[in-house]
Amino acid sequence: MGCQSLDDIYELYLLGVLSAEESAEVSAHVRRGCPYCLDRLRESAQVVSLVALNTLPAPPSARHKAALLERVKRPKGAH
Ligand SMILES: [Zn+2]
Repeated sequence: MGCQSLDDIYELYLLGVLSAEESAEVSAHVRRGCPYCLDRLRESAQVVSLVALNTLPAPPSARHKAALLERVKRPKGAH
């Protein structure tokens, strides 16, 4: 697999949303010590941590929470 074709999946890899297969492919490649990919992985880690910092502190409002609970409580099949 060419390194450039991995460009788009480092963020996904770090977020843990890749399939097991893809994820194994990325870790195998990085473990070989490819400098290009190590660089990209480091950049992606920065992006991912920034995104995480910006999205974490958002507790749902009381109204939102009630609506969510209602949806969860509703029996299957009833709309
Ligand atoms: Zn590489």
